[in-house]
Amino acid sequence: MTTEDQKQQRHQERQQRLKQKVDQAVQAAVEDKGLLLVITGNGKAKSTSGFGTVARAVGHGLTAAVVQFIKGNWPCGERNLLQQHGVEFAVMATGFTWDTQDKAADMAAAELVWQQAEAYLADDSINLVLLDELTYMLSYHYIELARIERALVNRPKQQHVVITGRACHRRLIELADTVSEVQNIKHAFDQGIKAQQGIDW
Ligand code: ATP
Ligand code: MG
Repeated sequence: MTTEDQKQQRHQERQQRLKQKVDQAVQAAVEDKGLLLVITGNGKAKSTSGFGTVARAVGHGLTAAVVQFIKGNWPCGERNLLQQHGVEFAVMATGFTWDTQDKAADMAAAELVWQQAEAYLADDSINLVLLDELTYMLSYHYIELARIERALVNRPKQQHVVITGRACHRRLIELADTVSEVQNIKHAFDQGIKAQQGIDW
């Protein structure tokens, strides 16, 4: 056997062992349930990941609803597209919270949109709910943790939920089944490049 053949054989054996491990793990994963996913961190790709999951679900014929906390009057490419595919949207009626500086108005807007979120989280005809930028409602103390927890815990058993936003509260991380933290390595904005249509909004 040549050295090349030996290398090839070792490679095959390694791949075989890997395949066995993966197959075992796949066989062991038998539970079927609605998942709670959290996408947090300071890097770019949290909301796009949430919307990507909505697109994936809708592509399989599942139903989805999106609640957008914070971003009111900001145009949104995903909203334009997904509304045409039957996805319901509830949007917080103010602009960026850090723009408005009117706490009472923001809290009232948060309350209204959260009530819509509660309705989606109680509706078993909706397979997936995206709560985009929900984390800020907790860090700004606009919505009580206990209410959010109650709505998530009592939601229909098969309903999936995706929560996005920076600095996610640790209780939501505990409750979640899958949590990803997007790390910021670099971002075009820091090099003076403005937000680009189709990429950033
Ligand atoms: P995206 O909507 O692109 O997935 P995101 O949800 O991860 O981004 P947010 O914190 O919600 O990020 O910020 C929304 C906007 O801010 C987007 O236009 C995004 O490109 C921009 N952004 C995200 N991360 C950074 C960053 N680290 N520095 C500067 N701008 C950022
Ligand atoms: Mg976002």
